[in-house]
Amino acid sequence: MKVAVFSSKKYDMEYFRKANVKYSHDLVFFESRLNSRTASLAAGFPAVCAFVNDELDAGTLDVLASHGTKLIALRCAGFNNVDLTAAEKLGLTVMRVPEYSPHAVAEHAVALILVLNRKIHRAYNRSREGNFALDGLMGFDLYKKTVGIIGTGRIGTITAGILKGFGCEILAYDVRQNPACIEIGAKYTYLTDLFKKSDIISLHAPLTPETYHLINEETISLMKDNVMIINTSRGKLIDTNAVIDGLKSGKIGYLGIDVYEEESDLFFENLSDRVIQDDVLARLFTLPNAIVTGHQAFFTHEALTAIAETTLFNICQFEGKCKCDNEVCAARFLIKKPQSV
Ligand code: NAD
Repeated sequence: MKVAVFSSKKYDMEYFRKANVKYSHDLVFFESRLNSRTASLAAGFPAVCAFVNDELDAGTLDVLASHGTKLIALRCAGFNNVDLTAAEKLGLTVMRVPEYSPHAVAEHAVALILVLNRKIHRAYNRSREGNFALDGLMGFDLYKKTVGIIGTGRIGTITAGILKGFGCEILAYDVRQNPACIEIGAKYTYLTDLFKKSDIISLHAPLTPETYHLINEETISLMKDNVMIINTSRGKLIDTNAVIDGLKSGKIGYLGIDVYEEESDLFFENLSDRVIQDDVLARLFTLPNAIVTGHQAFFTHEALTAIAETTLFNICQFEGKCKCDNEVCAARFLIKKPQSV
């Protein structure tokens, strides 16, 4: 099938070309991000492959459908950037890669915890300058600390398991309980209880209207002083201005984010010779206890191999009119009310 691959980077081309030896799709790579202005590049392509910061709103989908596109093959797990209702109306099928390497993301979340706690980012710079003083580098034992995991699907549960290995107590919150997470030893609780008791809070829920700005001024006020907040999920789960206020006042002790609410014009690009215009992000870079990585949690060899393989497989399933569990439709992803614990 003829596939227009948007937001393509060298590594995407490499892994997709390798996996495509088995599938023989006609892949055409576009560096441009997909939005309503670039969608016409896909004219005549029955399939479009998109990534996390492509804008698949009603306007873009309309252009794609009017030029003959039938399939949106997301090469990511999250689908918050797709207007599923509009896709359904236009007769567009949407597929995703629900699981490629949850370990990659979970391990990155734990890496952020360890770097922030033991101040490795500061120690790295200091020792290169011949400064081996320890002042300011004091950490804490993770052993017996309480970690709150919000969203206990694939990634949240693996994160819980890794942290259990450090001897942490795990509190969990999700709209539906995951038996695998209970088996690890996590205790499900109410969201407010998790906020009040956790030393570290790690976000692993998808971006939905219910999780938008889940971390805000009010929820931060419930948290323990000096709390650590980690976000490898989606940027808009955090009200960044509220978190900056929390970091400035000392209420929040540490922030580790791999995703940022306004990342779409910044991340995945080398902007090192430009002046960053985003003052909120720039403020975060001035804080010694905040670390920002540019949506790299997924970025492992295993994950890229699996992403390419599943995306191309999804396209085959669509081409062969086979039923595919990786199809995303609006009705299937309606959020249920939280269970009581
Ligand atoms: P998953 O679907 O396996 O798990 C998500 C969990 O969140 C589910 O258990 C679901 O019930 C729960 N959830 C839904 N609404 C909720 C709510 N309102 N409150 C609490 N929990 C809620 O997904 P996953 O594979 O574990 O991925 C989690 C998220 O990680 C994705 O949605 C995506 O946004 C993000 N992600 C980020 C990267 C990265 O590179 N940073 C890579 C992959 C995924």
